[in-house]
Amino acid sequence: MSTQALYDQFVIPSYGRLPLSFARGSGAWLYDEGDTAYLDMYPGWGVNLVGHCHPRVVEAIRAQAGRLLHVPNNYHSPLQATLAQRIIGHACAGKVFFSNSGAEANEGALKLARKWGAARGKWKFVTMENSFHGRTMGALAATGQPKYHKDFTPLVPGFSYVPFGDLAAARAAVDAETCAIMVEPIQGEGGVNVAPADYFQGLRALCDEQECLLIFDEVQTGVARTGAWFGWQRIGVQPDIMTLAKALGGGVPIGALVAAARVADVLQPGTHASTYGGNPLVCAAAHAVISIIEEEDGLARAQALETQFRARGAALQKQFGVIRACRGAGCMFGIELDKPGQPVVNACLEQRVLINCTHDTVLRFLTSVFLTDDEIARAFDALEASLARL
Ligand code: PLP
Repeated sequence: MSTQALYDQFVIPSYGRLPLSFARGSGAWLYDEGDTAYLDMYPGWGVNLVGHCHPRVVEAIRAQAGRLLHVPNNYHSPLQATLAQRIIGHACAGKVFFSNSGAEANEGALKLARKWGAARGKWKFVTMENSFHGRTMGALAATGQPKYHKDFTPLVPGFSYVPFGDLAAARAAVDAETCAIMVEPIQGEGGVNVAPADYFQGLRALCDEQECLLIFDEVQTGVARTGAWFGWQRIGVQPDIMTLAKALGGGVPIGALVAAARVADVLQPGTHASTYGGNPLVCAAAHAVISIIEEEDGLARAQALETQFRARGAALQKQFGVIRACRGAGCMFGIELDKPGQPVVNACLEQRVLINCTHDTVLRFLTSVFLTDDEIARAFDALEASLARL
């Protein structure tokens, strides 16, 4: 039976899957079951920031697998402790809780904020229209997109949604019962939407005035993606809580909730937990990812990619009237079209270049920081040919 036939029979069909089946990966390349190579401009939905199977990540996992795979969180684990220390070292004074995914990191952030607010009569959240925070019930309620809510109501109560970038709307939505505002530094799934630094400064000031927490969902923007360790550092606005996942594990499931010192001790024993959260295997992989970024110029590479993406994007925009805007930061880049982008994705696929389209019209790139000039040229040549066919 083919892989696809097995899926049809045995896997719940909750994903729209392309007719591709991959067997191995290396750097920016994926190889299908027949060993045909595809250039991956969207590796792992943002997971493979250091590329597929970076040798240092692979070696760290191999070595740790032979030593200790898992111990639960009623014990201490040196790899988890030192990973938290390294994350905090790149962030701000505070503490970390480890989970297995972005949605789960966000659930932890929502719980922390609710618990912090409980003593203050605060329990509501303000989040952004077009945001994406995950598929679990709390993260789903935080996600400001009705299409994802459909058929899953009633949602967790207490969420209201305001337009991203509209400070006045946020100000109007926050009241004495609001425990937190939650926002992505750059909206990813919602269309690679950016907002100016003074918007985030305004949110910070609003949270301080109204005594509520500012949560940044950095599941997509965190860990060097935008050319800074975390998106908030690029913006210059520090949240009370940030959440991480995707790139942190280099391909293994890890998430993290990072809380500033003043709120970090809210979650006391018995209030929140995860069986797998931050086990030795995933922490070993995350250590390798952080070392790679530190020692192999991860931030500078992401910044250099931004320059290249901007230049290539601007050239395409001059050439093709269908391009409305190009935007992003580091190796997170979006090209907005004035029509659906799926035909462009399909045409790139025919040229064995994998790109993503989000929010119907935005072509999205979330590349490895190690993308070479040749790989960029190849991807943009495919994109140009695909746009020409529109
Ligand atoms: N938050 C953001 C900003 C995301 O982009 C995503 C996934 O795309 C999530 C949360 C959910 O992460 P996960 O799929 O690991 O649960």
